[in-house]
Amino acid sequence: MGGVPCGRSPFFIAPRHSFCYNEFMSKLLILHADILVPHEPSRVLRDAAIAIENKKIVALGETPPDFHADEIIDARHHVALPGFFNAHAHAAMTLLRGSAEDLPLDRWFNEGIWRTESALTEEDVYWGTALAACEMLRGGTVAFADHYFWMTQVARVVQESGMKALLAWCVFGSDFASEMGPTTLELTGDFVAEFQNISTEAALRRAANLARKLGVGCHIHVSESPAQVENAYKQFGKSPVAYLDDLGVFENPSIAAHAIYLDDADIEILRARNVTVAACPKTHLKLAMKTTRLVDLLR
Ligand SMILES: [Zn+2]
Repeated sequence: MGGVPCGRSPFFIAPRHSFCYNEFMSKLLILHADILVPHEPSRVLRDAAIAIENKKIVALGETPPDFHADEIIDARHHVALPGFFNAHAHAAMTLLRGSAEDLPLDRWFNEGIWRTESALTEEDVYWGTALAACEMLRGGTVAFADHYFWMTQVARVVQESGMKALLAWCVFGSDFASEMGPTTLELTGDFVAEFQNISTEAALRRAANLARKLGVGCHIHVSESPAQVENAYKQFGKSPVAYLDDLGVFENPSIAAHAIYLDDADIEILRARNVTVAACPKTHLKLAMKTTRLVDLLR
């Protein structure tokens, strides 16, 4: 499946010896690390160096002869690995953690999460996302694809934290009426996202058309429960994945979150469209759902 677009990622020293990069310090040298080489997961460089200049990695393995470091970090007995990328998040939901436990999906949404979310303010979203950014960075996650409300606040956290992100303003319902914050297509520009099981065909077509026009992808929850799949067959005579594909939602590189209840034909569509499937095992465990067919998707 396609990966989440990303640029060069900073490295983090595991487990808890992260460093604070001083913006006035231009050259940093990390020595004696065991390095898991990016894009070559089976390759490990032992007792190796990482040379960083102006926040960019300029050498892996040997220290370049003309590299005079402003600071040296001894990473003996540590592993340096590429940054992690979170492919599907609602970062500000850190504030809701533990607030709706032991409930099935529909009650978790209707009686817990959506009720609490309706009371969130723009500032709450800023602080919830800021907390999430701290937690992500501490664990080595350097970028995230986020899908929520008040996304200008999420963008602010991205800028302040130095992380990278793909941001989608969550859109519900049939006419893009505001659920939380000023969420119209015109106001949110490329913050385009969808929620398939409660969106109408016209709304989905509008989102797909705007995504095409702006050259952005959609970030959408897909086939998260048996009821969603059942409803799609009842209403449209096809699976949610086939339905969204016919509407053009997957034309640009898109993210399908959860995607638990897929049949073989769905997997073929997702593969052909190069859709990034974001499996969320922790969520699936929490809500006692099934798991995404990762082995089949990766074939
Ligand atoms: Zn989600």
